[in-house]
Amino acid sequence: TLLGKTAVITGSNSGIGLGIARELAKAGVNVVLNSFTDREEDHALAADIAAEFGVEAKYVSADMSKGDDCRRLIADAGACDILINNAGIQHVAPIQDFPTEKWDAIIAINMSSAFHTTAAALPVMRAAGWGRVINISSAHGLRASPFKSAYVTAKHGVVGMTKVVGLETAKEPITANAICPGYVLTPLVEDQIPATAIEYGISEDEAIEKVILAKQPSKEFVTVEQLGGIVTFLCSDAAAQITGTSISADGGWTSQ
Ligand code: NAD
Repeated sequence: TLLGKTAVITGSNSGIGLGIARELAKAGVNVVLNSFTDREEDHALAADIAAEFGVEAKYVSADMSKGDDCRRLIADAGACDILINNAGIQHVAPIQDFPTEKWDAIIAINMSSAFHTTAAALPVMRAAGWGRVINISSAHGLRASPFKSAYVTAKHGVVGMTKVVGLETAKEPITANAICPGYVLTPLVEDQIPATAIEYGISEDEAIEKVILAKQPSKEFVTVEQLGGIVTFLCSDAAAQITGTSISADGGWTSQ
C-alpha cells in the first residue's frame, strides 16, 4: 500500500505534475508540490488536495533551473519515497536561431534538475528502505521533431539517465523509470493551438487533428489522469521488477 508514503513532484502547480499529484493523493500518498513561484494560489493547491483526499500536502517553492534549489527541494520536503521529475518547458526554433538562453534553460529544467533531485533523493530512499524515481520524459525522448533541438536532447538525456539510475539501484528496493507521453492537453500544448491555426490558415480543431496530433495515431490526447494511473502502477508491488526502462503512453506514436 502507498498509504503514508510521500511523493515530491517537480513542476506541479499545473498540468501533468498537478494531475499526477492528485492521482497519488487519491491513493493515500502525501504530496509535495513545487514550482518556481511562491504565490498564495500555489499554496492553496496543496491545501485543496489535503482537504479533498485527506492526505498531507504542501507546496515548496524551488527553481528547477538551479541545482542548489533542486537539492533544497528534497531537503525541505522532509521525506521523499517517490520522486516525480516532471518540471519542463518548451521552445521551438530552428537550431541556427535557437536562443542560447533558451537552450540552457531547457537543458537545466528538463534534464539537469532530474540529476540534482535524484542525487539528493536516493540517500533518503535508501534510509527509508524503499523508493521510486519516475521521470516524465516524452515521445520526444525516443523520437525527434524539427525545431525542438533542446527539448528532444533533454528528453533523450532523461531516458538515458533513467537507465543509469535503474542500474545503480538494481539490487535495492528502489526502481527508476521514465514515462514517455505523447501529446497531453495542458497549458504547454494549449498555448500552441491558436498560433498553429493561424500559421496553417486552418481552424483550431483542424490544427489539433492535422498538425498537433499528426504523429499520434489515436488522434486523442493523453490525459493527466491516465499518466497519474501509470505513476501509481509504477509505485505498486506489481512493478517492482520494472526498472531502468521507459513506458510510452502516446496513442501509437513511437510504434511508427
Ligand atoms: P505545464 O506547462 O502545464 O507544466 C510545467 C510545470 O513545470 C509547471 O508546473 C511549471 O510551473 C513548472 N516549471 C516550469 N519551469 C520551472 C522551474 N524553473 N522550476 C520549477 N518548476 C518549473 O506543462 P505540462 O504539459 O504539464 O508538462 C509537464 C512535463 O510533461 C514537462 O516535462 C513536459 O515536457 C512533459 N510532457 C508534456 C507533454 C504534453 O503534451 N503536454 C507531452 C510529453 C511530455
